[in-house]
Amino acid sequence: MRCCALVVCLLLGIGVQNGWSRPVKSVLVTSPGNIVKKVADVELAQSYLKKFGYMATEQHGDFRSKVSIAKSLKMMQRQMGLKETGELDKLTLEAMKRPRCGVPDVANYNVYGGEPKWDHNDITYRILNYSPDMDSNVTDDVFARAFRVWSDVTPLTFTRLFQGEADIMISFETDHGDLLPFDGKDGILAHAFRPGVDILGDAHFDDDEDWTLGKGNVVKTYFGNAEGAMCHFPFTFEGKSYTSCTTEGRSDNLPWCATTADYDEDKKYGFCPSELLFTFDGNADGAPCVFPFIFQGKMYKSCTTDSRIDGQRWCATTSNYDTDKKYGICPKRDTAVIGGTSDGDACHFPFVSRGKEYHSCTSEGRTDGKLWCATTDSYDRDQRWGFCPDLGISLFLVAAHEFGHSLGLSHSNIRGALMYPSYSYVEDFSLDQDDIDGIQYLYGERTTQTFPYFAGNKTGPDSTLSTTEEPDPTVSSVVTTPSTVDPTKDPCKILKFDTITVIQRHLHFFKDGQFWKVRSKGDGGRKGPFSISQSWPALPAVIDSAFEDVQTTKIYFFSGSRLWVNTGSSVLGPYSIEMLGLPPSVHKVEGALQRGKNKVFLFSGEDIWRLDLNTRRIDKGYPMYIRAIFPGVPDDPSDVFKHKALIWMDINYWTGHYLTYRAPHLRHCCPLSQHYVWSGNYHSHAKNLKNGRNI
Ligand SMILES: [Zn+2]
Ligand SMILES: [Zn+2]
Repeated sequence: MRCCALVVCLLLGIGVQNGWSRPVKSVLVTSPGNIVKKVADVELAQSYLKKFGYMATEQHGDFRSKVSIAKSLKMMQRQMGLKETGELDKLTLEAMKRPRCGVPDVANYNVYGGEPKWDHNDITYRILNYSPDMDSNVTDDVFARAFRVWSDVTPLTFTRLFQGEADIMISFETDHGDLLPFDGKDGILAHAFRPGVDILGDAHFDDDEDWTLGKGNVVKTYFGNAEGAMCHFPFTFEGKSYTSCTTEGRSDNLPWCATTADYDEDKKYGFCPSELLFTFDGNADGAPCVFPFIFQGKMYKSCTTDSRIDGQRWCATTSNYDTDKKYGICPKRDTAVIGGTSDGDACHFPFVSRGKEYHSCTSEGRTDGKLWCATTDSYDRDQRWGFCPDLGISLFLVAAHEFGHSLGLSHSNIRGALMYPSYSYVEDFSLDQDDIDGIQYLYGERTTQTFPYFAGNKTGPDSTLSTTEEPDPTVSSVVTTPSTVDPTKDPCKILKFDTITVIQRHLHFFKDGQFWKVRSKGDGGRKGPFSISQSWPALPAVIDSAFEDVQTTKIYFFSGSRLWVNTGSSVLGPYSIEMLGLPPSVHKVEGALQRGKNKVFLFSGEDIWRLDLNTRRIDKGYPMYIRAIFPGVPDDPSDVFKHKALIWMDINYWTGHYLTYRAPHLRHCCPLSQHYVWSGNYHSHAKNLKNGRNI
């Protein structure tokens, strides 16, 4: 699909950019004279001014009116930080030709109306597809980093969804029906919509661009000794510098690269994607191409697009397709050319042109300075050529810009700002104050380094908390905690506690607004009952589960679908447990169990979720069945806690052959005698789950 569209766009490009069709100088001489060029420039300007909102699209006849175009040009020049001449001068024209964002600059383009701002701070995104230019892991990382640009300066958080409707749906597109068409390579790079439902908030990237990290092809290696690391361009091999994969030093013609700057020094390398290494799709299980091969009686020495309507390059994986019918799609080489007469083929080095031998891309014969190469050993004989891949467009910079739109920002007229409309690569990116002012105007500042609703651990609830999640007064009044305790109440007669957990090295047994403490050390003398409301004001009487974060000593209390956080001096909340990423179908968290320093298992029904305490979000891949992690435990355990390095669960829910161990030193303390330790070989089991289901 992509190749097809690319060819079409380049063909269209030929009409405008005279002389693109061939690399040799003689062709350029045929370019039309200055008069024709001026008309073309005026047309380009007219279309630019309309496309980006400086001129109303219905103003057809008005273009002849000098007043109208001068006004529009001045607006455009102000936006782009140019001298406001009102004339189509050289700098203005150059600015119009630069690659840029497709979102119009003039604010009244917004046909959707309303406040361009999300009404929630926990934004979700989903990546619908990938560009063939970059490995999907690299792309995932790029988008995550682009979101971080904005979450670093606001209270916003960004969570990736893998299914369903996210606030920001991200896709690579060519032809797509949202009234803002893309235009092939360069020109418009991407666009995004203001916050809102459906398409609003979404970000679209032009699949015809050569997406990179801004510094040339991003090439993942295979085999070799670098464990799939990315190529390092440029790299040095035998004293010579390489900016693309090379076959130098090999007799098997397999392209390779170094994964550090200096192969001679580090000796780290891998093979680059090529049809000699593997194919994909097809019916040959990824076998490499066999050259030459026969297809419909004709001999092929390289991958071909013949007979494919999608324009994909393919090859036979045996020497005769007609008899064996085995084939695969050829991977894109990093030296694959763009356009010319052999789009998608790799440069052939060395090649001969006009009798001279070339070992790298050249701009010989062109006046536009664009680099080209032949894709066979002789340009003179075969006339097969294409443009060499350039530095490409940084997906990170464009994505960070587009996500700015997705969050409600429009274009800036500050040239160094991220939200400036046109693209230019910068190595050390940071937001301009203009970008920061814009986004903080919409969403406010980021108050602390931690997630906002757990912030403010010194005094009272953080002011940003109440704006994101209003404490619900009805909940507090319904569950008013009894302020007095009944000292005669015998905990030994309580068959089921609301929850049991370890806080400050004491086991705490909660029941109906009261709790008892048992020291973890020694024989565990019992104290209590105490009143919950006196120890932790604002907590409800019934606590479903609780845990103490061993790192920060903050205590998390769950009751129903609400969560409170005790910071040491105050209790913050309630917050909705949905803010952690738990689905609305979870009505209560029945157990919580810390695993390691930063992870906590949350139990509900037969499901288990893993909460990351750093991000305060549920990890990817959850929920899992409790029995998948704690085999032998029946569904729906409660009172889950860890004590003396053992995991305990409520006897009421758990009987069976795993009841193999009972802590004798706790037996005399009656509440604990009702609980049994889970002695399943947790660690060996965890090992078995290593593949993708790490716990
Ligand atoms: Zn933009
Ligand atoms: Zn679109």
